[in-house]
Amino acid sequence: MGTDAMTTDTTAPTAPAGPAGIDLGALEAEAARIRAEAERQLAAVTDLSALDAVRNELLSKKGLVSGLVKMIGTLDAAARPHAGKVINTLRDGVEALYTARRDTLSAAALDASLKAAAVDISMPGRRTLPGRPHPIRQTQAELVSIFSRLGYTFREYRDVETEFHNFDSLQQPDWHPARDMHDTYYVSPAAGAAYPLDQGQYKFNLLRTHTTAFELQAMAARGGQGTNPLREVTTGRCYRRDAVDARHSAVFHQFEGLAITEDASFAELKWVLLQASKQLFGPRTQIRLRPSYFPFTTPSAEVDCTCPSCHGKGCRTCSQTGWLEILGCGMTRPEIVELGGYDSTKFRGFAFGMGVERIAMLVWDLDDIRMLYENDVAFLSQF
Ligand SMILES: [Zn+2]
Repeated sequence: MGTDAMTTDTTAPTAPAGPAGIDLGALEAEAARIRAEAERQLAAVTDLSALDAVRNELLSKKGLVSGLVKMIGTLDAAARPHAGKVINTLRDGVEALYTARRDTLSAAALDASLKAAAVDISMPGRRTLPGRPHPIRQTQAELVSIFSRLGYTFREYRDVETEFHNFDSLQQPDWHPARDMHDTYYVSPAAGAAYPLDQGQYKFNLLRTHTTAFELQAMAARGGQGTNPLREVTTGRCYRRDAVDARHSAVFHQFEGLAITEDASFAELKWVLLQASKQLFGPRTQIRLRPSYFPFTTPSAEVDCTCPSCHGKGCRTCSQTGWLEILGCGMTRPEIVELGGYDSTKFRGFAFGMGVERIAMLVWDLDDIRMLYENDVAFLSQF
């Protein structure tokens, strides 16, 4: 449209100018038309980028107003000053229209972007909760730390074990009644070639039912021909097909220790466990050992410690007995010491194991094991 107006109006008056009044009138009419056109177009624009395009069409060197300037050359010299004024007025007017429209649209755009980025200062902020180790992790770390001060190294072992490491090497062949206590998750048939056949047919991989499964591996890793003394602890998940209740879970954690030295004795075992109990439950703690049975130790004992809540007087935590059962232990059977590559006439061993959940529940006086697994942040944030 702009181009039409420009070409007609700049090429038509090439004929000799008529009376000045007539041409001046045509120019004024054209100026008024452009002004109206500018008003219409600017009003129709709704965003800033389109506004610039319209401005170019009106005011650039090739725009409508500049087209009008070229008409001046066709006018009488006397008419030109007036024509100049008309065009200047037009240009100033269009410029002012443009500026006003630009200000309106800018304000609207600013308004919209503020609304889009609106901040509701009444909303509660987002809090970043600091992480911390789970109480079971804390208990494991505490136990590892206590036993490292007593001279024990720490290593983790795999959750999926061979039947050999979990049972057979620990003197529980598959006819052994002690296996009944471990309701086991079997995973897959084991590759029999992994172990010498004279150590039995190791038919399955399984989820370890106790961390005691580490014993033979710890001895084997201890270098060569069984001449290096060994004091090692481990901890990790164990699995049994237990129904979940306040005291049982199908997945639980054990902490386990093994010492193989030339002078390991039941007296040393008791001393180690007493020191550990004192560090865990407080310096007034005492322990007592009761005869017990485990397939992999002889003699074997259950260990009780004085109740940390009542120091032996009797309370709800200890069912009024003053004592709490905390772990099992015993002297490692010589067959296992031999299987681990040591000469059982020179080396003796002892072992001990405990439930991490049980220790955690005693340390923090919890009465339901399930609280440790429910991931209730309100509960966990207390530790
Ligand atoms: Zn008590």
